[in-house]
Amino acid sequence: MALSSMRYKNSPFEPRVYRGKEFYIKRDDLLDKDFSGNKARKFYYFLKNDFPTIKRVVSYGSNQSNAMYSLSVLAKLKSWEFVYFCDHIPKLLKENPIGNFKYALLNGMKLIESKDRAKEANELKSKTTLVIQEGGRQAEAKFGIELLANELKQDIKKHNIKNPYIFLPSGTGTTALYLSVFLDCRVFTCSTVGGDEYLKDQFLELEKDESLFPKILSSKKKYHYAKPYLELYELWYELKKEMGVEFDLIYDTVGWQKLLLHANSIKGTPIYIHQGGIKGNESMLARYERKFP
Ligand SMILES: *Cc1c(COP(=O)(O)O)cnc(C)c1O
Repeated sequence: MALSSMRYKNSPFEPRVYRGKEFYIKRDDLLDKDFSGNKARKFYYFLKNDFPTIKRVVSYGSNQSNAMYSLSVLAKLKSWEFVYFCDHIPKLLKENPIGNFKYALLNGMKLIESKDRAKEANELKSKTTLVIQEGGRQAEAKFGIELLANELKQDIKKHNIKNPYIFLPSGTGTTALYLSVFLDCRVFTCSTVGGDEYLKDQFLELEKDESLFPKILSSKKKYHYAKPYLELYELWYELKKEMGVEFDLIYDTVGWQKLLLHANSIKGTPIYIHQGGIKGNESMLARYERKFP
């Protein structure tokens, strides 16, 4: 494993063509077999540094979160106990674990159902317990995202890309914000959770200087977070067929939809950051099958 051996290896950077337009894809999905995507970047600080007093890591969020799975891998590598607070686990999922939920349990995750998950998780913070906020929205994420920014600078130089711009879809906005802070080129993103105003509020929680914020690409059409839409599935399928790259079914489908809407009016060469999340596709595909048999 590249990261577990603590030896940092750059993720691939690949040219691709989609609908006649040239894109570069930063393949953070290929960073490592188990610890990949932007969660690996955000949690790299915790992987890389020593925490001699810490015995367990606690977090909270949704029952199919990519962050939850990545934390289960981190905890395993660190020999920490991993406790995760969820508000509700559907019976179907309990009886048939699937996707991130299944693989996190296999890594030894201890699950607690709680109506007040954020509060309960944060109350456990102590000398021996590390608490990670939902989706890894915290300043420590800077550490790994700066390394991603440095890799991108090298990639852009090596491929001699004129007038590049970066695009990546946001959840908490942490990855897009810090990339925008560390890179000189333009960074664009879009919201997938809540609206554009909510995303901006999330940026403000981490950074006060608005001139450093990424630009938010919006669209009239609103998609509910993690809800199956046939048109998004079709886009996902087409992207896979044409580019040979499997993207995430929650963030990337909305991301590509918004990027394609705006790409013709943005000058320069787009670089799309693939932020992983492929393990989560297992449960999303099952939901698509139930909804659109
Ligand atoms: C978590 C995640 C995101 C959102 O990242 P933020 O830093 O919270 O904006 C986007 N794509 C994938 C695949 C993710 O797992």
